[in-house]
Amino acid sequence: MEKVLIVRYGEISLKGLNRPYFENKLVKNIKNVVRKLGKLNVYKLHGRIYIDLEDYDIDEVIDTVTKVFGVVSVSVAYIFDADIDKICDVALEHIKECIEEDGVKTFKVETKRANKNFPLKSPEVSRKVGAYILKNTDNLTVDVHNPDVIVNIEVRDKAYVYSRKIEGFGGMPYGTGGKAMLLLSGGIDSPVAGWLVAKRGVIIEAVHYHSYPFTSDRAKEKVIELARILSQYCGKIRLHSINILNIQKAINEKCPADEMTILSRRFMMAIAEKIAIKRKCSALITGESIGQVASQTLDSLLVTNSAVKLPVFRPLIAMDKIDIVSLSKKIDTYETSILPYEDCCTVFLPDRPVTKPKLEKIIKSEQLLDVEELINDAIRNVEVIEVEIEF
Ligand code: ATP
Ligand code: MG
Repeated sequence: MEKVLIVRYGEISLKGLNRPYFENKLVKNIKNVVRKLGKLNVYKLHGRIYIDLEDYDIDEVIDTVTKVFGVVSVSVAYIFDADIDKICDVALEHIKECIEEDGVKTFKVETKRANKNFPLKSPEVSRKVGAYILKNTDNLTVDVHNPDVIVNIEVRDKAYVYSRKIEGFGGMPYGTGGKAMLLLSGGIDSPVAGWLVAKRGVIIEAVHYHSYPFTSDRAKEKVIELARILSQYCGKIRLHSINILNIQKAINEKCPADEMTILSRRFMMAIAEKIAIKRKCSALITGESIGQVASQTLDSLLVTNSAVKLPVFRPLIAMDKIDIVSLSKKIDTYETSILPYEDCCTVFLPDRPVTKPKLEKIIKSEQLLDVEELINDAIRNVEVIEVEIEF
């Protein structure tokens, strides 16, 4: 029996005249990611997307497709020529599988008849199929209010039978929302922040700061691995790896010790902005969240923010750590984020960082440095790594 994956999308159907653009982009993105599994047939039909499953590993296809932004849910359906006897047989076969796999005891049949030429109306189909299932099974009853399983029947040009719906992440098709530069550390927060913005269709590039040789190669590999996990959703991520050791040394030499973190934050923002503009990104993204650490008080955020002109997106700003952690587990970055390799910020960490920095005072300290020269130097030595999902 032939099987097909029904792929549903939500919000893009609201897009009016632009709808075909969003739909086609979604189809293209799905085709792109399933390419690694084989030559699957992906097509758009009656406001949904279908993928012929043939002999492909269904779990693998589901796992891949539910990671595509814009996908709200998927279902594995039997597909066949619409004929009431056949519908009864397939529905019965399907529910027997449900009994075997999930031990279901109650069910309900729901029918959608889009093909008005089909001789039976929806309620008649449901009734007929329900009766047929009851007659040919033991210990199974109908429960219309709270059934263990709903057998969905759709009568279109073809007939479809399915029950389980597996949720995707929703959002907008990747690549329909412009481009932004993510400040990607090795921590828990920034990968989640990047993922959330990417989910809105925004293409992500990333910049990472290290203090090699004070920080290790493994710290760098960890960030590449995080970018690789994100690329499962985004297809490809261009990662700019930048050494800021000289900047940190200069700050350490010339500026008050308790301003180390906030000053290097301003440099991080300024460098990211410069690369962002060159790469045609229209915003920066950070994983900051109010009050999480000294450099994320409102006073500190004001000071870091004023180092740049581009808008800075902080999708985690009002989220609790516990919720960020649970999201990072859901998107698979958590296990990598908690690997213990040191971040560049710990290299010259002050004992007591300022929590209420004053912008004028920080700018005064900054004037002790040749900011432009330091920034240009750091950017000159950028290492660009293209991280892609493997085919
Ligand atoms: P994260 O878990 O994302 O590292 P955090 O809670 O450790 O966040 P901070 O270390 O204060 O917070 O960093 C705040 C934000 O600054 C990060 O979310 C990230 O966007 C950016 N950032 C910090 N360190 C780096 C780095 N080494 N490279 C690139 N961006 C960084
Ligand atoms: Mg960090």
